[in-house]
Amino acid sequence: MIREDIRNIAIIAHVDHGKTTLVDELLKQSGVFRENQEVAERVMDSNDIERERGITILSKNTAVTYKNTKINIIDTPGHADFGGEVERVLKMVNGVILVVDAFEGAMPQTRFVLKKALELSLPVIVCINKIDRPEARPEAVIDEVLELFIELDANEDQLECPFVFASAKQGIAKLNMEDEGVDMKPLFETIIDYIPAPEGDPEADTQVLISTIDYNEYVGRIGVGKVDNGTIKVNQDVTLVNYHDPSNTKRVKISKLYEFEGLQKKEVKEATVGAIVAISGIADISIGDTICSLDNPQPIPFQKISEPTISMNFMVNDSPLAGQEGKFVTSRHIRDRLMRELNTDVSLRVEETEDMNTFKVSGRGELHLSVLIENMRREGYEFAVSKAEVIYKEDERGKKLEPMEICYIDVPDEFSGAIIQKLSNRKGELQGMAPTGDGYTRLEFSIPSRGLIGYRGEFMTDTKGNGVINTVFDDYGPYKGDIQYRKQGSLIAFEAGEAITYGLFNAQERGTLFIGPGEKVYSGMVVGQTGRAEDIEVNVCKTKHLSNTRTSSSDEALRLVPKKVLSLEQALEFIDTDELLEITPESLRIRKKILD
Ligand code: GDP
Repeated sequence: MIREDIRNIAIIAHVDHGKTTLVDELLKQSGVFRENQEVAERVMDSNDIERERGITILSKNTAVTYKNTKINIIDTPGHADFGGEVERVLKMVNGVILVVDAFEGAMPQTRFVLKKALELSLPVIVCINKIDRPEARPEAVIDEVLELFIELDANEDQLECPFVFASAKQGIAKLNMEDEGVDMKPLFETIIDYIPAPEGDPEADTQVLISTIDYNEYVGRIGVGKVDNGTIKVNQDVTLVNYHDPSNTKRVKISKLYEFEGLQKKEVKEATVGAIVAISGIADISIGDTICSLDNPQPIPFQKISEPTISMNFMVNDSPLAGQEGKFVTSRHIRDRLMRELNTDVSLRVEETEDMNTFKVSGRGELHLSVLIENMRREGYEFAVSKAEVIYKEDERGKKLEPMEICYIDVPDEFSGAIIQKLSNRKGELQGMAPTGDGYTRLEFSIPSRGLIGYRGEFMTDTKGNGVINTVFDDYGPYKGDIQYRKQGSLIAFEAGEAITYGLFNAQERGTLFIGPGEKVYSGMVVGQTGRAEDIEVNVCKTKHLSNTRTSSSDEALRLVPKKVLSLEQALEFIDTDELLEITPESLRIRKKILD
C-alpha cells in the first residue's frame, strides 16, 4: 500500500538559516495557530538553551495537514556532535528539505547533514531562505548548493532536485524568483509532489523501529518510530525485540498510542504503515528496539548508536562558596539528574566512581557535554566539572587509538596563517585550503579530538570573533603523540560589558576569551571583575562554552558566563598550575592598573 495521505520529511539546515522560523510558518499556515496566534513564535526550539545557542539538540516531531495529506516534519539536530541522532531520524523519512540562507550559502553543518541524507538516497528539496534580505544572492547560492551536491556524490535524481525560494519571515515561498510570492503554498505543493509517500504492507507482520525516545514525568518513556510494516493497535499484544540483544524479547501490550498533530501528540486507536507513532507505557523501551508482531518477531536492523568519545567528571562543588549558584547541590541530586538524562540520550554514559561525589560522564564530543552542563545549571544544579578528556581505545595489536575529527574553519584571510600554526601545534593536519572569494579562507583539518578541547575559545580570540569553526567526528585513528600546548595565560578584566583581555604572552588589547568546561585547566585563565574586585578577588569561569557561530560579542559572553568570586588561592586550586602561566605580582600589578 502506498500511503498517499502521508509525507514524512526531515528538515536540515545550518544553524540560523531559518529552520525554526520555516517550520513555525508551515504550522501557522496550515492552521495550527488559528486560535492562538500569539504562541506562534518559535515553537520548535522549546528548550531554552537550544534557543539561545541556536542549535537543535534533540529531534522533535510536528505534523501539518495540507489538502488532506499529513506531513510529518522531523527536525534534525543542527550540530555535528549529534551525528548519530541525524542518521536515526533520517531513517524515518522519505525525503528532506535543505534550508540554505540566501546570503550565507552552503555552510559546513549543511554539508554534514546533507551528506548523510544523500548517502541514504533521500530526495532533497532545496529551500533558499531569507530571500528578503537585501544582500541575498539566491542564484549564486543555488550554484554553490549544486556544487556541494556534486562534491558529496549526489545521485542523478538528487541532482534534479527542486529549488524553492522562501522568506520564512514573510511567510512566502515561490518557485521562481520573479514570482510574486503570497504564501507557503508552493513549498507545500513541492513536498507533496516531490517527496514519495511511504509504502508498506498493512497486512504484514507489525514492525515499528523505535528511533527516538521522549520522556515525560507522568507517562515515563515514550518510544517514537515509524510503522514500517503492518498495523499497530491499542491493546494489541506485541513482541519487543531488544536492540542490543535480539534474542532478548518480551511480550508487551500496547496501552497508549499517539500520532503527531501540529505540536501535540494525539491519541489514536491504531496506526498503519507510514505513520509516525509515539508509544507510552512500555517502561524500558529503548532506541533501536523493534516492536514486532507477537508470533513472528522480525527486528529491523539498526544503525549503530554512536559511542562516546569524551569524558568529564561532574563533581559536588565543595568550595567554600558552594550553594550560591544553585539549589540542587548534593551528590544525590546530581546523580538523579544524570540518570534521568539517560532516559532520552542514548549516546551518553554515566558511571559512578570510587568517590561518591564524583560521576564520570561520557558523551559525543565537547558540545554534547557542555549542553548538558548548561541545561543542568539552568535548572538549578550546582556542581564542578573536570577538564574534558578523550576516550582512548586500542586496536587488535594493542596500539593506542584516539578519536579524530574533521575540522572546517572559515576565517578572514589575514588570520589563516596563525590558525594553521595553532592547529598544527595541536597535531592538526591541513587537508585543504581554499579562498571563499569574499576575503575568507576555508581550511579543513584532520585533528585529534584532544587537540580541539578548549580550542574554540582561543579560536574566537585569535580571529577577533570573525571566524567560524565546525567539527565533525571522523573515526578512531592512531595516537598522534603528545601535544605541547603553547602556554597561554590571560587575565581578563570585565568592564561595563566589555572584556579587556591581555594575555601574558599574547597581549591583546581587546577581545573575549571563551572558556569551556574544563578549559580553565588548559589555558589557566583567570577572570577578574571590576567594581568589586580588589586585586586578589578573581572569578574563575568554569562553564563557559558558547556555540561557535554566534558568540563574538563580549556582551554576550558577560551575559552567559556563570561567574563565581573566589580568592586568588581558591582560584588557583581550580587551575592546573603547570599549564598556567605564572600569576606573578607583576601580572597582578598590571591588572590592577587596568582595573584602576
Ligand atoms: P534555525 O537556527 O535554523 O532554526 O534558524 P531560526 O529560524 O532560528 O532563524 C535564525 C534567524 O534568522 C532569526 O533571527 C530569524 O528571525 C531569521 N530569519 C529566519 N527566516 C528568515 C527570513 O526568511 N528572512 C530574514 N530576513 N530573516 C529570517
